[in-house]
Amino acid sequence: MKSYDVAIIGSGPGGYVAAIRCAQLGMKTAIIEKYSTLGGTCLNVGCIPSKALLSSSHHYEEATKHFEDHGIEIPGEIKVNLEKMIGRKQAVVDQTTGGIDFLMKKNNIDVFEGLGSFIDATHIKIEGKDAQEIEAKKIIIATGSKPSTLPFITLDKERVITSTEALKLKEIPKHLIIIGGGVIGLELGQVYRRLGAEVTVIEYMDRILPTMDAGLSKELNKVFKKAKCKMMLSHKVQSVERNGDEVIVKAENKKGDVVEFKGDYCLVSVGRKPYTAGLNAEAAGVKLNDRGQVEVNDHLQTSASNIYAIGDVIKGAMLAHKAEEEGVFVAETMAGQKPHIDYNLIPGVVYTWPEVAAVGKTEDQLKADNVEYKVGQFPFRALGRARASGDIDGFVKILADKTTDEVLGVHMIGARCADLIAEAVTAMEFRASAEDISRMSHAHPTFAEAVKEAALAATDDRALHV
Ligand code: FAD
Ligand code: NAD
Repeated sequence: MKSYDVAIIGSGPGGYVAAIRCAQLGMKTAIIEKYSTLGGTCLNVGCIPSKALLSSSHHYEEATKHFEDHGIEIPGEIKVNLEKMIGRKQAVVDQTTGGIDFLMKKNNIDVFEGLGSFIDATHIKIEGKDAQEIEAKKIIIATGSKPSTLPFITLDKERVITSTEALKLKEIPKHLIIIGGGVIGLELGQVYRRLGAEVTVIEYMDRILPTMDAGLSKELNKVFKKAKCKMMLSHKVQSVERNGDEVIVKAENKKGDVVEFKGDYCLVSVGRKPYTAGLNAEAAGVKLNDRGQVEVNDHLQTSASNIYAIGDVIKGAMLAHKAEEEGVFVAETMAGQKPHIDYNLIPGVVYTWPEVAAVGKTEDQLKADNVEYKVGQFPFRALGRARASGDIDGFVKILADKTTDEVLGVHMIGARCADLIAEAVTAMEFRASAEDISRMSHAHPTFAEAVKEAALAATDDRALHV
């Protein structure tokens, strides 16, 4: 029987990053993945393929709607070749997952293909291509998550689909009905709207992206409405039925009326749930909580002291970079180091266009905590760089403590915000004040100038360009 210092179950961004860090720290490391490709949800059916389709559809929209503004004329009709677009996406995925194979080899990590299940707290049974039993002193559970649904919905995966199927459709829907105006619904909704589908988003809450700052929800809702998406807020879905090629969704609105929507595809994007099926966690003494998450303490240690858990399968935001941070954290903890994660400073990003990004506290959270704060906001349309490229939608909003000026939250919507948020994270990690940011030189002309201007606005209401 092969024996390891550490074995990791699941090869998503949590698991594979943990494996690399364990190997870097001198541990003999194994990783077990039930699928034939490494990388988990993120690389195979999540972050990477969705961003590939967002990029392709963005190019199409630019070509059909905005090239002319720039004096670029394309004779003849511009057409989408969906098969080719999906094929390119798959090539990007294959290249990226192949990169993880390379990293495993480079770091001398043994990869086992098969379903891993606990025999006891130090032994794992692998069923599948590399079937065998292995022993490990320490084990990390990184089994991730799967799409959740509503009890009355039958996901036939043809027309009533999850994100996994939406990433490989064979035709552009005529009318895509999306249940859930969260990250997946909005990113994939925008992809298919750009490609020509009619899109209806049905959201239970009174705003899209309900966990983000309300100002961002409002602004992105405007963008979707401008693109002629139907945004049905405060609608409670009651039934989803398939009739041949038609999908009929019924939802109750605020007044109590039942509204009917008919489309040819329905994307169910109401969140994801932790995945532990087949893991036999009980055999190792690993406890789950009532939400099905693996329960962990502050060291991400489970109820079995030699077993840790990270990523989507435990509490917290279901984000690839959160899983990665936890992978590094656990590897370093096991090596006797004292790592630290500030969960308040894990940024959240929605890769629509304009992009939405945030870190720290929202206005609602500060109000609930009775924190006195000031707001500095700056619109992208006032920036030379934004006007030069034609990306004028959105703003940067900085929330700073009213007394100390410490930055408590940064919320932005606009071009390149997914990258701009890194400046806010850095500043907040160093507990910068709004004035600190406002006194740093930001290259001109850049989108990043909006961060400086918002900081100026927060400092003393002295933005320069509005
Ligand atoms: P996962 O990536 O889910 O990996 C878990 C792995 O464990 C899987 O490969 C699974 O097959 C394997 N596994 C499970 N059980 C076993 C077992 N018993 N034996 C062996 N193997 C097992 N996050 C972002 O930060 N940015 C984004 O842009 C983003 N976009 C997304 C887009 C979509 C459409 C989706 C669905 C998700 C997106 N996410 C994004 C979320 C992100 O994918 C997850 O947060 C991330 O993948 C979680 O990583 P993980 O390592 O915890 O688990
Ligand atoms: P989500 O939690 O982001 O959004 C789900 C939405 O569905 C919410 O707005 C919720 O109010 C709504 N909802 C719930 N029940 C409903 C009902 N009965 N009727 C109508 N609406 C309902 O979940 P998601 O979009 O499915 O994404 C799942 C996870 O994947 C998220 O946790 C997210 O962090 C992650 N993800 C991240 C990214 C990114 O970082 N860019 C992209 C995609 C997915």
